[in-house]
Amino acid sequence: MYQFKRSIDLKKHLELVRKSGKTIGFVPTMGALHNGHLSLIQAAKQNTDVVVCSIFVNPTQFNDPKDYEKYPITIEADIKKLNDVSTDIVFLPAVDDMYPEGLDGNIHYDFGDLETILEGKFRPGHFQGVGRIVHKLLDIVQPSKLFMGQKDLQQCLIVRKLLKIIHSSTELIVCPTEREPDGLAMSSRNVRLSPAARKKATAIYQELNAIKNSFGKGLLFMESAYEAVDHLKAQGFDPEYADILALKDDTLVPLDQPATDDMVVVAAIAAWLDGVRLIDNIIIQGKL
Ligand code: AMP
Repeated sequence: MYQFKRSIDLKKHLELVRKSGKTIGFVPTMGALHNGHLSLIQAAKQNTDVVVCSIFVNPTQFNDPKDYEKYPITIEADIKKLNDVSTDIVFLPAVDDMYPEGLDGNIHYDFGDLETILEGKFRPGHFQGVGRIVHKLLDIVQPSKLFMGQKDLQQCLIVRKLLKIIHSSTELIVCPTEREPDGLAMSSRNVRLSPAARKKATAIYQELNAIKNSFGKGLLFMESAYEAVDHLKAQGFDPEYADILALKDDTLVPLDQPATDDMVVVAAIAAWLDGVRLIDNIIIQGKL
């Protein structure tokens, strides 16, 4: 596996890869890798010739400085895991390399309503930071395919919009969420949960499934999101949202009427537990 720390060196290397006619698959991550990340690498390996994984904890997407400071860093273990699944290239840039202009850049992407709902409502500025770093990484890697996880559904939709805004020819492939045996979505932040909280954390997925199971039951279905919030509160979570949404014109809108068969319907939850913010979502009907 090749390791690059400087974007200029990676760019040069990838120019040669492209010249040889090979396709490039790209998996951007913030490290602390788990099997969810590795499933994206596997998907990239199956669909492209050369797989690049970046590890970069992107400061501009953290609205909470404490979250940034506490973000787990496990570079050596990450490199070993990437090697074990035969990743071709790992890119480990420094903040200065990615942000030579400084962190307070004045670029702004028009993501519309998608930026201010769900995660955007509770993490102001987050998706501008995501847009900024993904744009930069795409310019460096120029992949034919980009692999991201449904676990961060709204992020996938933001990036899909970004690709349109910047007229990119890169195709976004959304990969399914990998889960622990008890259903908890794998996440780098899970390691920060105490053993007791880790046991409890599976309740989020259970509530998403309860919402899914009430699908088609008219008003009861809509109310199931409120019930999820109540159930989570009763178990010691501090929920930020539990919403049922429909995918419409590349954005998510609250589903405030019974769903029709042609709609893509999803449920999404964000909740704090033990000082850790957990998010998850489930597709109730249709395909992304
Ligand atoms: P992160 O390192 O958290 O920024 O995540 C990097 C990529 O891995 C993003 O596209 C995430 O959506 C994806 N990812 C994170 N957790 C999972 C999971 N449990 N299953 C599949 N993909 C995931």
